[in-house]
Amino acid sequence: MITYGHFIGGKRVAGTSGRTTEVFQPMDGSVRGTVALASKAELAAAVANAKAAQPAWAATNPQRRARVLMKFLELAAKANDELADILAREHGKTVADAKGDIQRGIEVIEYCIGAPQMMKGEYTEGAGPGIDIYSMRQPLGVVAGITPFNFPAMIPLWKAGPAIAAGNAFILKPSERDPGVPMRLAELFLEAGLPPGIFNVVNGDKESVDAILDHPDIKAIGFVGSTPIAEYIYGRGCSNGKRVQCFGGAKNHMVIMPDADMDQAVDALIGAGYGSAGERCMAISVAVPVGQKTADELVRRLIPRVESLKIGPSTDSSADFGPVVTKAALERIKGYVDLGVQEGAKLKVDGRGFRMQGYENGFYMGGCLFDEVTPDMRIYKEEIFGPVLSVVRAKDYEEGLRLCNDHEYGNGVAIFTRDGDAARDFAAKVEVGMVGVNVPIPVPLAYYTFGGWKRSSFGDLNQHGPDAFRFYTKTKTVTSRWPSGIKDGASFVIPTMG
Ligand code: NAD
Repeated sequence: MITYGHFIGGKRVAGTSGRTTEVFQPMDGSVRGTVALASKAELAAAVANAKAAQPAWAATNPQRRARVLMKFLELAAKANDELADILAREHGKTVADAKGDIQRGIEVIEYCIGAPQMMKGEYTEGAGPGIDIYSMRQPLGVVAGITPFNFPAMIPLWKAGPAIAAGNAFILKPSERDPGVPMRLAELFLEAGLPPGIFNVVNGDKESVDAILDHPDIKAIGFVGSTPIAEYIYGRGCSNGKRVQCFGGAKNHMVIMPDADMDQAVDALIGAGYGSAGERCMAISVAVPVGQKTADELVRRLIPRVESLKIGPSTDSSADFGPVVTKAALERIKGYVDLGVQEGAKLKVDGRGFRMQGYENGFYMGGCLFDEVTPDMRIYKEEIFGPVLSVVRAKDYEEGLRLCNDHEYGNGVAIFTRDGDAARDFAAKVEVGMVGVNVPIPVPLAYYTFGGWKRSSFGDLNQHGPDAFRFYTKTKTVTSRWPSGIKDGASFVIPTMG
């Protein structure tokens, strides 16, 4: 049994609140360990530690800060198998998919090595008589990240990388479902030369989150998780005067035009709909074939593919996907499938009865496929976050586009077509933050920014890419004059350059 405490001030420390929760191993349903749930006082101690360490880190020049991240990359590469093993055991995704989770985080750290470039300000010489203007980017101080269970390596690294590279001290409150990888990342940062107190892990639940939201020394919070919690964190954090960005839930559509390459579209749907058991904020959960003929052919081709998905324990390298994260998640997903049947959707493939031989206590669910789902159904409106794909038939392109635009979520979307006009029109008009053209999971690379629209995102800057440095820094603009004999006298009007 593993006992996870916290990582504060450069070392693992035991929890003192007396409150813990269990960490499961979804592939066999066993309890892998426990994780401490921090109290307000423990969070405050971590913040005090971080606050004391931050000025020296901010004063370390950006190139040296970047070198620590370079060393981290080297250490993380060596620890790749170990990290993937922990991740797969605590999350449930396959080891291959866990490696992708780690890699997507690593790519953001690689981007953050450009900190000296990203931290550069601007300079205008001679903006007025003897006047020069320059701007500088400065770190905020102590900042925090609150992250979800579904990418326990990638999202903590998306938050921590830019925050640390910019000279802040960082408090991570990871998901209590899979704290093992964040705790290891903290050790790797330390080993790479990051000073103690700059990357801290405070494990916990609502109590620690509320303590973060209310702590006056935490200047910014980056959150990723479900929309109701995103909205709560955004509201409370902003009303406490903090800079807050929150990324929430999703219901990603894929529009399949009549001229689409059907083999490509079906492959894309199978991977994007069922990979990681559908527990991705960029998973495709709604297929929108345009026209009855396209819909009939799509469903006909999807059925055998969904029926033959290979589900296996996380350690099985031949599995398409593994178990879901908890028993509660499994029950919630099955509940949605029951609901879809009651609502009148046609359940073409039913994965509710799937049992994994030899792993009967694991949290497994077979792939499910619904046809004839309509926009009024709850299974269409709500995020299921499981291996369940819904087909919503659209009579024409306009109806397909309208479905994407009318949905409350706007994280990712895709169109599959051979028609450049349709693809271009779609990319321009769709009200969704990340768009794929014949690409089912259009997660932007590290040097672009990631973020949804509508109720998938709260706040005005995206995560990673240049926005992340903007989010974790503040700009100061200096107007300076070194007068050599300029004497204007007192001026009582607003200075202008007119
Ligand atoms: P979650 O909202 O349950 O938890 C996210 C974080 O909030 C965790 O650290 C958790 O401890 C904390 N939390 C949970 N309940 C809380 C409460 N009542 N008060 C304060 N804090 C609380 O999300 P999850 O189940 O861990 O992750 C899945 C969700 O995350 C899905 O909705 C998915 O779409 C979303 N997600 C979004 C993105 C994105 O970039 N938009 C990326 C990944 C996941």
